[in-house]
Amino acid sequence: MGECIGDNRKTHVYYMLKIKCAKCNKTLIKYVKIGKGRLWHCWKGRIVENNCLHEGNLITCPCGELLGIDEGKWIKLKQHAFTTSGTHH
Ligand SMILES: [Zn+2]
Repeated sequence: MGECIGDNRKTHVYYMLKIKCAKCNKTLIKYVKIGKGRLWHCWKGRIVENNCLHEGNLITCPCGELLGIDEGKWIKLKQHAFTTSGTHH
């Protein structure tokens, strides 16, 4: 043996996403997203800033719009309740 099998250096693309309320356009969450694709969940460990209100397991905007459901390790986002804008890192 002694051979290095496989090189796991993958190139990940990180995005600093701003998740905004679709209704009032307030920035609710700043989130580190890895890779492209639609955002379905927010892993709590990658949330940088959180301005949402928590009522039980409901995550809402201060304007009252329901943004998602707290499911423990992540927030399941309600599609169409938010918009995102991201910067490429
Ligand atoms: Zn709002």
